[in-house]
Amino acid sequence: MTLTPKHAYFAKKNSVSKELKNVEGQISIKKKTSNLFGNRVLHTRDGLDLRSFNSIIFIDEKKLTAEVEGLVTYEELVKATLQKGLVPTIAPELKSITVGGAYAGVGIESSTFRYGFMHETVLETDIITGKGIITCNANENKDLFFAFPNSYGTLGYAIRLVIKLIPAKKYVKIERERFDDIDEYTSRMGKLTKQNQPKGPLDYIDGLIFGEHEMYVIKGTFTDTPKFVSSYTGMDIYYKSVRTKTVDYLTTFEYIFRYDTDWFWNSKAFGLENKFLRALVPKSLMRSDVYYKIMRFENKHKIFNPIKHFFGAKKTEQVSQDAEVVIEKAPEFVRFFLKEICDDIPLVYAPAKAYNPKAKFALWPNFGDEIRMNIGFYAPIPTTHPSGYFNRLYDKKVISLSAFKMLYSDVYMTSKEFCSMFDKKTYDEVKKKYDPKKQFRDLYEKCTSRQIK
Ligand SMILES: Cc1cc2nc3c(=O)[nH]c(=O)nc-3n(C[C@H](O)[C@H](O)[C@H](O)COP(=O)(O)OP(=O)(O)OC[C@H]3O[C@@H](n4cnc5c(N)ncnc54)[C@H](O)[C@@H]3O)c2cc1C
Repeated sequence: MTLTPKHAYFAKKNSVSKELKNVEGQISIKKKTSNLFGNRVLHTRDGLDLRSFNSIIFIDEKKLTAEVEGLVTYEELVKATLQKGLVPTIAPELKSITVGGAYAGVGIESSTFRYGFMHETVLETDIITGKGIITCNANENKDLFFAFPNSYGTLGYAIRLVIKLIPAKKYVKIERERFDDIDEYTSRMGKLTKQNQPKGPLDYIDGLIFGEHEMYVIKGTFTDTPKFVSSYTGMDIYYKSVRTKTVDYLTTFEYIFRYDTDWFWNSKAFGLENKFLRALVPKSLMRSDVYYKIMRFENKHKIFNPIKHFFGAKKTEQVSQDAEVVIEKAPEFVRFFLKEICDDIPLVYAPAKAYNPKAKFALWPNFGDEIRMNIGFYAPIPTTHPSGYFNRLYDKKVISLSAFKMLYSDVYMTSKEFCSMFDKKTYDEVKKKYDPKKQFRDLYEKCTSRQIK
């Protein structure tokens, strides 16, 4: 007899529940992929094996929801929802990000200007905690529900989620506006965000900054009638097209994962901006999760280091960071970044707004009605400075502007600075309640271990 996806989920849940009773020490997750930067240890050999929690349980076309297991990737989910003319309200841009991972780590997309952050689209979840598997939503076990987003697996692991979907069309029309002044550019982003609330012609808004005098607003609108359809999974590169095309059309699937083929612009490090090499590499290997695995392998074994040094390659520092800066201070942050950190690799610039300005999450600030700009940078920077120099500068600026940074990357803050970003008291209470034997790691220790000596 074949089990329905729901029954299969219950069977796996029961089995993990039994396994959990025998675990006395630390609980960690075992999964196939990751998008964590920094030198953190990946728990691949030991840990709770949650890899089988990778199925879509049910897509409810009437309620506009998807019930999924925690390790379903957005690639699988977007494929399945598009077949029903729907997409996740917030779908991160890298294919291997899992729904549970985005929930535990805060997901953002070019639809965040209207629908808020990924965790605001979660209606219910089952979480493996130190007190067993707990179902929570805005009414039931709500202390855990509101403390979980941004907890990065320190309160438990989400194995089932019900998330919101929105109607979509087959294609996205992309229109770009160029600016040469950061204040005018930011003000345009703010205006578009306001004009498209709670509804409006635009479905997606984000931007790219190529330097002090070259920046683009990128507007996306669903359409079923494209005039032509581009693709950036072969010879052409998406981020480069932003500088040359004012209008473009992509399938909705390609639009969502537009940065995956070139891992934003990091495929350059693998020689993939060289036409000849690019033509030789199979499309199936041009994916962020493949680059990620190569990067981790190289970080561990340093095979190419001697060759790189022989050819005179400079030492680099990986800066992969996202911060939410209030729109009025965003130009100052960008100017600082271009002057002090890097001015020749693009910065992602996207408006972000809380969906429910009144919701209170322990580890995610209440932005109220403010518009925040998400400022993201993901690249290695040539350096002659001591290790961590640029990331430290970045963190200092985040603190001085009372901005809020995402925790997936390097954190160079003191415990006091770090905790000042959150409602630490509530988090600690919830942690004590659901992790009484301290089987999950501490958030600060997890985000900073191996960085702060
Ligand atoms: C280069 C780069 C680009 C990014 N771009 C985007 C983007 O476009 N949009 C966006 O929204 N985000 C983006 N992110 C952030 C990303 O969404 C988060 O890092 C997210 O946590 C990754 O999810 P994952 O499934 O890959 O989890 P992992 O990288 O495997 O794990 C991240 C952390 O979450 C914990 N975790 C994983 N799964 C679960 C679970 N089921 N329950 C509880 N905890 C769990 C792990 O213990 C770990 O601490 C980016 C990150 C990087 C490095």
